[in-house]
Amino acid sequence: MTSSETTKRAATHQFPCPSCGGGMTFHPSDETLTCPFCETKRAIESGFPHDVARDLDEALATYRASERTSRIFHCESCGGETELDPYSQANFCTFCGSSHVVIHEADEAVTPHAVMPFRTTRQEAERAFRTWVKKRWFAPTTLAQTHQLDRLQGMYIPYWTFGAETSTDFTVNVGIHYYVTETYRDSNGTMQTRQVQKTRWHVETGSYYETFQNVYVRANHRAFDKLLNKIEPFDFNDLRTYRDEYIAGFLAERYAIPLDEGWERAATTMDRAIENGIRYQVHGDIVHILSKRVDYDDRDYYHLLAPIWVASYRFNDKSYTFTMNGQTAQVAGSFPISWVKVVSTIVLSLFIALAVAYGLDLFEALD
Ligand SMILES: [Zn+2]
Ligand SMILES: [Zn+2]
Repeated sequence: MTSSETTKRAATHQFPCPSCGGGMTFHPSDETLTCPFCETKRAIESGFPHDVARDLDEALATYRASERTSRIFHCESCGGETELDPYSQANFCTFCGSSHVVIHEADEAVTPHAVMPFRTTRQEAERAFRTWVKKRWFAPTTLAQTHQLDRLQGMYIPYWTFGAETSTDFTVNVGIHYYVTETYRDSNGTMQTRQVQKTRWHVETGSYYETFQNVYVRANHRAFDKLLNKIEPFDFNDLRTYRDEYIAGFLAERYAIPLDEGWERAATTMDRAIENGIRYQVHGDIVHILSKRVDYDDRDYYHLLAPIWVASYRFNDKSYTFTMNGQTAQVAGSFPISWVKVVSTIVLSLFIALAVAYGLDLFEALD
């Protein structure tokens, strides 16, 4: 088999400007497609997706993982051909930089149902980065001046979002504290009394009900998962029905974690919430869950794209990452640590603590 046989040609969307032909891109400030060359604007027809959730049982029954062959796309603007990595949903032409949104192929398992549009602009993300860099107290003093921002990229990352009605039959061991007065003989041989805590245990069975919505699972494999944990959550009241226009001008990833695995992860999250709910519902000082059986009803899901800004920057030949939630503007990043600053801060705070602790004695000595 030659390599050309394993490479597929992907069809892509471009959004040419009606006035000048330039590639239009999504504009966060007014939620339009905007031409970066002549500022012509076009409205995007979309809205809040009230019926976004799909039946999960049906989807899992017919679900098959889409194949992950490498793909290339042909640029109508310049004729260049760019290779797409298997998880790319939108990219830029390597030669002319124009934005391409990959058209969903018929064999693709699940296409996005909803999108959270970018609510922050590139300028805002850049400004947020500068402010953030200046506030890194434990970073070397030279960081704010000498770092190099390699690239700042807006990117949509894929999520699975799940809902379910759950009913759980459970058996718990419940401990209730009570106190008894004990008498004892102290070291001088005198009789004393004291309160001693005891626990009375009994077994209880019961049912617990909880409805879950928007339990989300990140559907890609990313090196900066820890940073993403810090810039979540997203606001689920700000959803739009998916349209390709929303990702024009940004990178977008296809999911790498399949739907069934996504559900397994969501079920783990629900399970934790259910156990907490049971402990809260049962009145007791200690509640041990002995067994439980969870029934899921009306399981639903949808596939969502959510926006983040990612920048890598260099300092002393090492690379660090900065991220910002493209919707809520929450920021997080990795940065170099100046051990000189850390150690001197610890020494200084110890000194202050000692000064406070001995301060009174000092004043008394002066008296
Ligand atoms: Zn134009
Ligand atoms: Zn091109």
